[in-house]
Amino acid sequence: MEERARKLTRSDVEQGETELQELREEVAETTKEIIKLVAKRIELAKKIGEVKTRESLPIDNERVEDALLEEVLRECGQLGLDQQLGTKILSTLLAESKKIQRMQGRAKPRPLITPMVMMAKATEIEKKGRKLIRLDVGEPDFHPPKAVLDAVSDALFSYKTYYTVGRGIPELITALKNYLAKRYNYHEAAENQLIVTPGGRFAVYSALATVASEGDSVVVIEPNWPAYKEGLEYIGARAITVRTTIEEGWEPSPESVKAAIRPNTKAIVLSYPSNPTGKIMRQAAFKEIVGIADDLGLTVISDEIYNDYAYKPCPTILENLPRKYILTSSFSKGWSMTGFRVGYSLAPAETSSKMLKLLGLMITCVPDFIQRGAAKALECETEVSHNSKVMKERIDSTSAELAKIEALELHKPEGAIYAFPQAKDPAFDSAAFAMELLEKKGVTISPGTGFGDYPRCFRISLGQPQEVLTAGVRKIGELLS
Ligand code: PMP
Repeated sequence: MEERARKLTRSDVEQGETELQELREEVAETTKEIIKLVAKRIELAKKIGEVKTRESLPIDNERVEDALLEEVLRECGQLGLDQQLGTKILSTLLAESKKIQRMQGRAKPRPLITPMVMMAKATEIEKKGRKLIRLDVGEPDFHPPKAVLDAVSDALFSYKTYYTVGRGIPELITALKNYLAKRYNYHEAAENQLIVTPGGRFAVYSALATVASEGDSVVVIEPNWPAYKEGLEYIGARAITVRTTIEEGWEPSPESVKAAIRPNTKAIVLSYPSNPTGKIMRQAAFKEIVGIADDLGLTVISDEIYNDYAYKPCPTILENLPRKYILTSSFSKGWSMTGFRVGYSLAPAETSSKMLKLLGLMITCVPDFIQRGAAKALECETEVSHNSKVMKERIDSTSAELAKIEALELHKPEGAIYAFPQAKDPAFDSAAFAMELLEKKGVTISPGTGFGDYPRCFRISLGQPQEVLTAGVRKIGELLS
C-alpha cells in the first residue's frame, strides 16, 4: 500500500487528469452527436408527418413500431447493450415523433369522453339545477352495510385516527386471508403478499407500474376500463390491445392474445366480469391465456373487482395461479363502498414489496378507521348477496328493455353492473349521441370510445333503481327511433 502510494508521483496524477479530460471531451462529443442524430430523426418524423397528413393516414402504425422494436433489440444484442435501455430510448423517440406529427395534423384527435369526463360534465349541469338520469356513473347505488358504518364510527370515536403500517392493519389482513380461504379455498396468502390499497384503482396502477417500465408493453383486452391504458401511458409503457367484438360475444381467443405479445411485453391484464361488457370469460380460455403468460414468464394482472356480480362461474387467478400474478380487488362494488376508497392486492411477496414501496411513498397507508370498516365488510355476506341479486334483476329487466329498441343489439351481460349495447348502424357516433341524449333527454351514458375503438357502442351503468333505468332506456329508444 505504502509502496503504491509512494509510486503515485505528481506526473502520474497529471497524466490521470489529462486522460480523464480527454475522455470527458469524447463523451461531450458523443452526446452532441446523439443530439444531432435526434434532431435529424425529428426532421424525418416531420416529413413522414406531412405525408401522413396529406394522405390522411393514421399517426400510429403498430406494424412499423414493432419492426423498429425488433431492430433496436437486435442492435442492443449485437452491441451488448441492455435491451431495457434500448426500448426506453425507442419509446422516448417514438413519443416525440408522434407528438410532432399530432401537432402537424390539421384534424386534431377529438378528446376522449371517458366515464370520468362524462361524470364531470353531468355534475356541472346538475349544479345548475337540471335534473338528470345518470346512467354514466360506474358505481352501485346501494347503501354500504350498516355494520360497516358502525365499525367506522366506533373506530373514529376510539381514535383509530393515526398512521398504520403501510401494508394494512393485521386485523384486515387476517380477515382478507380468511375471506380468500373461505371463498376460493386459497390458503397460501402470507402476510407479505396482501396489501390494503386506497381502492382498486391504486392497486391496478401500482400493479402496472411495478411490472412495466418506460418502453415496455402490456397486453389488454378491449373494450375495457380506460385506466389500464391511461396508467400505462402515464408510465411511458404501451398498451397492446386485443380487440373483441359483440359478434364473438366479447370473448378473446387465446390465439389472439398470444399474437399480441411482443418482445418487450411484461404482462397481460384480465378483468372478468368485464367493465363495460359484463362478459365473463370461459374458464378454459382463461386457463389457456394464463398458461400462455406463464410459459413466457409474463405477469397476469387479474382485476376481479366485480366478482360479486357474476351470474355464471367466473374464472379467478387464485384457481389458476401462474408464477407471476397480481390480483387486484376492492370493496367499492360488491359492498357499494366506492367513497371509502379501500381495496387490496395479492401477489408473490417480492412483487408485493415493490408495490408497497409505491403505496408508502404516495399515501403512507389507508386510514385506520376505513380499514376497520373494510374488515367488518368481509362479514357482511347478506348485504353482498342482496346487492348481487338486485343487480341480476336489473340486468334482466334492462336487457329486456334494450331488446325493444330496434336500432340496438346487445350481448346480454353475464356479470358486472353495466350493459354495453351496440348500434346496428355502422356509422353511429356514440360520442355525438351521448351529447344529444344529454341535451335533449337529460340522460347520461358513457360513449364506447372511452373503452377502446367502439364508436358504435355505449355503456349504461345499472347503478340506479330499476324505474330510473327503465325511464332512461326508454328515452334512449325515443331518440333512436
Ligand atoms: N377496476 C375496474 C374494472 C373498475 O371498473 C373500477 C372502477 N370503476 C376499478 C377497478 C376501481 O375502482 P375503485 O378504485 O373504486 O376500487
